[in-house]
Amino acid sequence: MLPNLQHYTVAQSVREAVLLLTRNEGARIIAGGTVIARSSSPRITQLVDITKAGMDYIAEDDTGVRIGATVTFSAARESPILRKVGSGIIAQAADHFSSAIVRNMATIGGDMLSPYNWADIPPILLVLDAKLRFMGARELIVPVERYTEMRKELGLDFMLLTDIIIEREPADRCGVFLKFGRTKSDIGIVTIAATANVEGKKLSTVRLAVAGVTSQAIRLPSAEAAAEGKAVSDDVLVAAATAALQDVTPASDVRATSEYRAELLQVAVKRALAQLASQEGSS
Ligand SMILES: Cc1cc2nc3c(=O)[nH]c(=O)nc-3n(C[C@H](O)[C@H](O)[C@H](O)COP(=O)(O)OP(=O)(O)OC[C@H]3O[C@@H](n4cnc5c(N)ncnc54)[C@H](O)[C@@H]3O)c2cc1C
Repeated sequence: MLPNLQHYTVAQSVREAVLLLTRNEGARIIAGGTVIARSSSPRITQLVDITKAGMDYIAEDDTGVRIGATVTFSAARESPILRKVGSGIIAQAADHFSSAIVRNMATIGGDMLSPYNWADIPPILLVLDAKLRFMGARELIVPVERYTEMRKELGLDFMLLTDIIIEREPADRCGVFLKFGRTKSDIGIVTIAATANVEGKKLSTVRLAVAGVTSQAIRLPSAEAAAEGKAVSDDVLVAAATAALQDVTPASDVRATSEYRAELLQVAVKRALAQLASQEGSS
């Protein structure tokens, strides 16, 4: 419950949403509402609903793909364009996302900005080298890789995320998304996303990122380096899985101990790379 909520306003355009957001310090965006509706922040006095503001598009041209911030997981799952991006990595995540009711409301933009360390979209956008476009007093384009570091400095929490930009080269890479949870649709204990160009069994431009392992989604640069330019073999898989533990120290919580997550992380890295290698010829 939001104890000080006074206004609920449905913005009819991006411009109107930005105006409402900048006019009132207590204004916050609501998209699908599956996260913010559970907030009890006393600072929020107004919610600006952006579901009618015209950001529910998925567009493709020669330069790449743009995903509007209010595209839902259901729409992403059905999109022929997203079924091709990174071998359909976003659609794969949507297949494993909660129930149909939540998928119909939850947005891709809301998941990117959600406070949960296990959210599915941040690791996917990391391995797609995606960029986020924000609108406020000015327009800012921020690489997902630098989002956490730039968030406070640029005041991104008080801006509107309008769309996600995925350039042609990463969009055309092979991709894999794997979520290890208690059930198919539960949140991940370890979630991994991977992309690479695949030639024969050889991987290049390898990207690996995990969620649910530490306080935020992160890339695994040592594990990526262990697989870069190599033909995938048992030795390469073991080297990459071992290297992943140099990149991250898994946390303990109610779902799993640090030791269990460390084991699962290594399984996840091996499985993601092996599945990438099996997509030979599709990138
Ligand atoms: C039962 C259940 C199951 C779930 N399962 C999963 C799961 O499997 N995987 C997963 O990743 N998540 C899961 N979630 C979490 C949640 O549904 C997702 O993170 C969802 O994508 C959030 O999107 P939303 O549109 O509902 O966000 P909202 O609740 O509307 O917003 C979330 C936050 O982002 C801000 N925000 C949203 N859009 C914008 C924008 N365009 N610009 C600026 N700020 C914005 C809001 O102000 C708020 O702070 C689950 C939630 C529930 C309730």
